[in-house]
Amino acid sequence: MFSYRHAFHAGNHADVLKHLTLVACLQYLAQKDVGLLVADTHAGTGIYRLDQELARTSGESERGIVRLAAAARQKGQPVPAAVQAYLNVVQSYNLGHDSLRHYPGSPWICQTLLRAQDQLKLFEVHPTDARLLERNVADLGRGKQIELRRSDGFTGLRALLPPPTRRALVLIDPSYELKTDYAAVLDCLEDALERFPTGCYAVWYPVIARPESHSLARKLKTLCARVQRPWALAQLDVGQTVASGRSAEVARGQARTPLHASAVHLINPPYAMAEQWRNALPWVCAALKEGPGAQWVVEQGP
Ligand code: SAM
Repeated sequence: MFSYRHAFHAGNHADVLKHLTLVACLQYLAQKDVGLLVADTHAGTGIYRLDQELARTSGESERGIVRLAAAARQKGQPVPAAVQAYLNVVQSYNLGHDSLRHYPGSPWICQTLLRAQDQLKLFEVHPTDARLLERNVADLGRGKQIELRRSDGFTGLRALLPPPTRRALVLIDPSYELKTDYAAVLDCLEDALERFPTGCYAVWYPVIARPESHSLARKLKTLCARVQRPWALAQLDVGQTVASGRSAEVARGQARTPLHASAVHLINPPYAMAEQWRNALPWVCAALKEGPGAQWVVEQGP
């Protein structure tokens, strides 16, 4: 338990998909003045250094956000709007630097786009990462607008729903370090949708050759059909890494294949999200392609 540290993975292709989507959702929801509750059930440390040991050992950001930013700088390449909006957030933490030194995790992406009337609630249980997050949040000096709970995000979400303003964006982004996380995501969502059916929910999951991963993808669609809520899904596969001796898993001595595909499932998605993904993902996929099998998928229902 607790071997997962997001600092190894910050800014990788999975973060690119998740955070590009998060920025688009926040910008859409900010079009209405009414205050928004943003809940991040698995927060991480908030902000990451890309030039320090954990990120450098894995090299994942080099093949993710660093490549994406380089592709966007190439002249004559029109950058899709959703990608540019995401890059603008990342670049706002790297002003005055030629290369990317800092990467904003989901809490930082949220706080960048938070308005005075919005609230951000964060959950993190890793003892070290929760301490780092606490310090990072304190440095922001945003007082009660951002609240950190060092407790289980799956169950902690219950007390937040429905929000008084009846508007919420919930990001559910576990590490899936525990096999039970897959079932916990579904239980958490079932409960949340009962308490607050009209919230916007974003679930990230790895697309891997494991029954739990396939089953989660299927069950999320079934849940949406049962509760009669619209959904949209984006999947990004960067293909098989050709020589990936620098993956975090290999660095820690474990012979695991590096993650090459992941998905975000949205419930009550922003109106034009599927279209934004269809514009952005071909470009992202071309920029981050590692090898054979690179592809993107967008689906929506009902
Ligand atoms: N959402 C972050 C982002 O996008 O920048 C990354 C989160 S990382 C994938 C998952 C985090 O959840 C880890 O920092 C882990 O320590 C934490 N975690 C694991 N189980 C948890 C739980 N039950 N409740 C809250 N946090 C948990």
